[in-house]
Amino acid sequence: MKYRVDGLQLRCVDSFKYLGSTIFVDGSLDKEITSRIQKASQALGRLRLEACASDRLGWRSLTSRATAAFEEDRRRRLAAARDRRHRAASTSVQNTNFQCNTCGRLCASSFGLQSHMRRHR
Ligand SMILES: [Zn+2]
Repeated sequence: MKYRVDGLQLRCVDSFKYLGSTIFVDGSLDKEITSRIQKASQALGRLRLEACASDRLGWRSLTSRATAAFEEDRRRRLAAARDRRHRAASTSVQNTNFQCNTCGRLCASSFGLQSHMRRHR
């Protein structure tokens, strides 16, 4: 199947980046997990890794912590980006009657307010 956007034909790919994650056509996570472990390992530095590689248990613990730290950082960045988007959206809806009774957030529409209210359930 061929798709076009503004006259440009889109290329068929097996994977693509979306919000910092790699999405694969078969829905598998193995390559994404491997990629994250590699990024975390790179962040630790080559010398430290080589020293730890001989100590398998230590290496495993180290990569596990590094992966967790990487994932925590990734989630924090995504949350910050989401907050920025929400703040930008809420400042653009100053004049609205759709305000949350719980937290005071302004929404652009009734639908938006209903969607927002789900987080207070
Ligand atoms: Zn609210």
